[in-house]
Amino acid sequence: MQIDEKLIRNVVEQVLTRLGTGGDVAPVGGGYQGRLGLFTDANQAAAAAREAFERLSRCTLADRKRIVDHIRRIATDQRVELGTMEMEETKIGRLPHKIDKLIGAASVPGVEFMRSEVFSGDHGLSVIERAPFGVICAITPVTHSLPTITCNAINMISSGNTIVFNPHPSGRRIAAEGVRRFNEAIYGDLGIDNLLCVITEPTLESADILFKHRDINLICVTGGAAVARAAMQQPKRAIVAGPGNPPVVVDETADLDRAARSIILGGAYDNNLLCIAEKQVFAVDSIFDKLMAAMERAGAVRLNASEIQALTKAAISTVGEGDKKHDVAHKDFIGKDAAVLARAAGKNIAPETEMIFGETDESNPFVPVEQMMPFVPFVRCRNVDEAIEKARISEHGFRHTAIIHSTNVHNMTKMGKALDTTIFVKNGACVAGLGNGGEGYGSYSIAGPTGEGITTPLTFTRERRCTMVDDLRILGK
Ligand code: NAD
Repeated sequence: MQIDEKLIRNVVEQVLTRLGTGGDVAPVGGGYQGRLGLFTDANQAAAAAREAFERLSRCTLADRKRIVDHIRRIATDQRVELGTMEMEETKIGRLPHKIDKLIGAASVPGVEFMRSEVFSGDHGLSVIERAPFGVICAITPVTHSLPTITCNAINMISSGNTIVFNPHPSGRRIAAEGVRRFNEAIYGDLGIDNLLCVITEPTLESADILFKHRDINLICVTGGAAVARAAMQQPKRAIVAGPGNPPVVVDETADLDRAARSIILGGAYDNNLLCIAEKQVFAVDSIFDKLMAAMERAGAVRLNASEIQALTKAAISTVGEGDKKHDVAHKDFIGKDAAVLARAAGKNIAPETEMIFGETDESNPFVPVEQMMPFVPFVRCRNVDEAIEKARISEHGFRHTAIIHSTNVHNMTKMGKALDTTIFVKNGACVAGLGNGGEGYGSYSIAGPTGEGITTPLTFTRERRCTMVDDLRILGK
């Protein structure tokens, strides 16, 4: 793909200049119209989103669809520029995937997904409709800053909500620029501003103000363990899309070339930043060496034991004291290219290499740590039962995502039951579980801990029932 780097740099500079003052502009016309969703003050952002919610509540479903179409169009048409800005700011992942993710985010379910339920019987008719919560506080991760905002905005506005985003500080500029562009188009067309608001200088304090704000009706967080815990401690409902550490099991019945291609497709995507991405593989002994050869045939580069040891030393650190002591991925290596990791392992490889891999046992920290790097450890197991059990332990009970390559339905069923994950993919890459190469729809917020699953517009609704007694049923007696 041809990218005009100079143009992108100019746009980034303009945005940074604008954001330097954007949050402090005084409200226009007595309200917050004209701010295009940019706020430094969390209280003002909540008030603006509340005002926007009142306006959205007076809109038709056709208006909502028009609003969502603007978001879809901008994310799709401007994906190269926006994806490049996200890459330049966050400095993690791979540029083609930053661009590609905006297309995925733009195609999540929208207004067309809304539906009502009807109970019709001798006593008349009851209709159950899906109403908005109101204003949602959404926390978004650095791994997919604008894609998560795009996806959440389409889902949440489709069901009639407005949103205040508190993005990750390292992805705040692209978050603000995306929100500004979405609002500009919506305001220009429908005269409603601030359906999406964003804190331009987000902090833990601004998140806490929003969590506790009386104008915020619902919390939706997408991120790791700390934010998941913080959201679940709030005295209002939280939808929590938390961390994962997806294991892969490969048994003796698998198509090994297909398994290798799938592991690379999912595990190397955006340098393994996806929460659903293949993070560690447990393969049975009888096919282990053949699987390793299939990985090399598919383009991944194998590290030997001493190279893995060097990489582990560089890329994994130990933090905390006493019983809080644990391993974490080193920030300098998260989302970096395979060639950068290989260099730390003492090996020079082609810069376009998508993934490096090698044999470890389950005690290597790359197995339990959600590493978010395109190095995937492969653990040799005696049989499928041992592989499933080790996979279960490595997933830490997050119940997020698991993958198996097998043609034995019994083994698939055993693993599905044992891991109990929100997403379980068989014979494909992890992304197939989000409709990319598999059936179904996608989302950037997979709510495991609180149980909503792959979020849709319906996730962000309250049920309301409207009952007509003894009338309106047009059937029978
Ligand atoms: P992170 O947990 O460091 O940050 C996520 C967001 O939470 C950021 O906006 C951050 O500022 C905020 N945050 C962190 N601690 C907080 C607290 N105590 N109170 C309020 N806000 C807080 O994660 P990251 O590095 O940005 O993203 C990667 C993590 O997110 C991985 O663990 C990944 O699995 C997870 N993730 C999950 C999903 C999902 O759908 N389940 C999707 C994407 C990423």
